[in-house]
Amino acid sequence: MSSMRRGLTASEALRAVLEEATALPFERVPIAVAAGRVLGESILSARTLPPADCSAMDGYAARAADLEGASAGSPRALDVLFEVAAGASAAGSIGSGQAARIFTGAPMPPGADVIVRQEETTREGARVLVRVALPAGQDVRRAGEDIRAGDQILAAGSPISAAEIGLLASLGRSQVAVHQRPRVAILSGGDELVEIDGDPAGGRIVSSNSYSLAAQCREAGAEPIYLGIARDTPAELEAVLRRGLHCDVIMSSAGVSVGDHDYVRPVLEKLGCTLLFWGVDMRPGHPLVFGRFGETGPLVFGLPGNPVSAMVTFEQFVRPVLRRQLGFTRLFRPTLQATLVEPLRKSGGRLHFVRVRLERRGGELLASSTGTQSSGVLRSMSLAQGLLIFPAEATELRAGEKATVQVLDESFLAADEPGY
Ligand code: AMP
Ligand code: MG
Repeated sequence: MSSMRRGLTASEALRAVLEEATALPFERVPIAVAAGRVLGESILSARTLPPADCSAMDGYAARAADLEGASAGSPRALDVLFEVAAGASAAGSIGSGQAARIFTGAPMPPGADVIVRQEETTREGARVLVRVALPAGQDVRRAGEDIRAGDQILAAGSPISAAEIGLLASLGRSQVAVHQRPRVAILSGGDELVEIDGDPAGGRIVSSNSYSLAAQCREAGAEPIYLGIARDTPAELEAVLRRGLHCDVIMSSAGVSVGDHDYVRPVLEKLGCTLLFWGVDMRPGHPLVFGRFGETGPLVFGLPGNPVSAMVTFEQFVRPVLRRQLGFTRLFRPTLQATLVEPLRKSGGRLHFVRVRLERRGGELLASSTGTQSSGVLRSMSLAQGLLIFPAEATELRAGEKATVQVLDESFLAADEPGY
């Protein structure tokens, strides 16, 4: 197709894929399964929380004016009129020289303006001796301290995690509108591939990309839908691709190079896909194809077949698209500056993503290569915590030099001690 661009830089390719990606429509889900999603509505509270002034402690509700000058040597004696439990309402009000037994979360009785902690008192029958003077308001939770009726509690576009789910629950919201999760159709192509329980005799290999890419989708918050392996014939590839047309994204791996059996591009075009670009100046991952079916059809990523290339191109281009479809505005992995412990070399012209181990030593972050950077060696991804950006024009990064690293796995930041 004449509109297909060739040989983009990684940033041009990223811009091109993000231009095609928009947040998906909303669906209503139970809040219990809303973690990791993005709110599609702003949440206003119809409630005030706490609904009334209430006690923050177990103890006695009293009047601050009655406690002036109270101390261990000169306690104040108050008459205990009644008891207020959490969830109950006060049986009456209290006046001068009076108190009510009260528990955490119970409403303040009218007339009381302070809570005396149990530890500061001695109970003597119908009286309590108070050993402290307290300012009015001490240990009283004010009505509306957390939430006031009419407040906007959460804005549309907020990511939802545990605290947001708790807030929604406290407002009585059992369901919320969130952006849909993208459904990602995954297919693999190649005569050499077998399913995981298949026979690898005769130089065949398990289609591991189906698994790594599905796991990456899930980790990104999307829903993978596995379509299977297509043999290297245009007819079979077409049949499998058709089964993905109802999805939000189609992601194939292999068959996008210049080999005699690389049918992904011609078959996509035959099905009506507009190919937007082919080839990105990066390693691994050069032979990436990107297109879309019409205005509303799925976006299509033809990822390279090599296991590392497939994973790295997913990270760079598919993951940000899926995050945007989920409604997130922050689309990228954290990046940090790390110090190289060894020199790296390459020829100029192509951006490299170097698989690196990361280690925190003192205040510094150290990066070291995971070994062979061949795009077929999946172990290099397994050992890596990050992808180090080796810029296109650079040919050498010296030991001791700092470089930008995309963090794929934050486990190296986990502490051996809790910090207290
Ligand atoms: P291709 O793009 O078809 O030339 O494949 C490039 C390399 O990736 C070949 O060595 C393939 O065997 C390998 N490969 C292709 N598809 C997969 C897959 N689904 N899982 C693991 N390796 C694959
Ligand atoms: Mg192949």
